[in-house]
Amino acid sequence: QAKERGKNGYHHYTSSMNIASYKLFMIERDLRSGIKDKELYLHYQPRVDAKTGKMISAEALIRWEHPIWGLISPGEFIPVAEQSDLILHIGEFVIDKACQTLSDWKRKGLPIVPISINISAKRFLKTDWINKLQITLDDYQLDPSFLEIEITETALIMHTEAVNTSLKLLKDIGIRVALDDFGTGYSSLTYLKQFPVDTLKIDRSFIKNLSESAQDQLITKSIITLAHGLNMRVVAEGVEEVDQLTFLQELNCDEIQGYLFSKPVSGREFEVLLQKQVLKPTKPPNKFGSFS
Ligand code: C2E
Ligand code: MG
Ligand code: MG
Ligand code: MG
Repeated sequence: QAKERGKNGYHHYTSSMNIASYKLFMIERDLRSGIKDKELYLHYQPRVDAKTGKMISAEALIRWEHPIWGLISPGEFIPVAEQSDLILHIGEFVIDKACQTLSDWKRKGLPIVPISINISAKRFLKTDWINKLQITLDDYQLDPSFLEIEITETALIMHTEAVNTSLKLLKDIGIRVALDDFGTGYSSLTYLKQFPVDTLKIDRSFIKNLSESAQDQLITKSIITLAHGLNMRVVAEGVEEVDQLTFLQELNCDEIQGYLFSKPVSGREFEVLLQKQVLKPTKPPNKFGSFS
């Protein structure tokens, strides 16, 4: 009997613990080789001007094509990668790939837009990566204004001091910063005053029921007012419906990102969107037809 109990008198659920840690181990191992074997690549999703549909930038979103499991979403493997130094490798991979893509677009004479990159909180613990980032930009002969860094609110509160140092360095170089998934973390409004952030991205959860929910309308409206009051741009994430777009236009939201304009697409497909320059909603306008 006693054998089955742990030190604190709790039962050890040995087998399920093993499966959980085995899964972690497997994903970590496969990710490591996946990076080497080029199973990871970037997709790009446009961000467009809310009033005109003109393309403003592209968000780089990582994809993993596992040889056995198929496509794995970043929501699955990024949290695993964050538990080890793998997330740092992924960060470097993404920065390099994004810069390579930008320089390809330039070489092809395409109407180039900045790319925004998601950077994990862990990366902000040290500032040496910014030096590397600058070197990568120089290698590809790119202007720093063509990169934007997206960090989540959680990053801000986790490592306030380190994050602030990194953000200031980024600002000095001329790389813009966006606060991702805004409204879902625990950041107090004090942080907005304290950190040099250029853009707020309203989390998808507030946009989802925007047309019906008076609460979500109020929250969205408040975030937009707040951001503009602080001289920041606002992006609405996850816009899928024309009604949502109409509402966001009325509220003077600056930019739209979501399936309504385009899902994240491959680099090749994105070049077609770049050539168009102005995107139209993929769904027909509602009866008020507010999209100009
Ligand atoms: P995120 O940065 O908030 O990215 C937006 C997510 O919303 C993406 O999911 C995108 O595909 C999805 N999305 C965009 N528009 C719509 C829409 O209209 N409807 C719906 N339902 N979804 C939409 P994805 O690509 O699965 O990425 C999930 C998260 O994984 C990202 O959230 C980001 O936090 C993380 N991530 C992605 N790529 C990277 C990366 O290169 N590095 C790091 N550290 N994290 C990444
Ligand atoms: Mg993002
Ligand atoms: Mg987001
Ligand atoms: Mg998100």
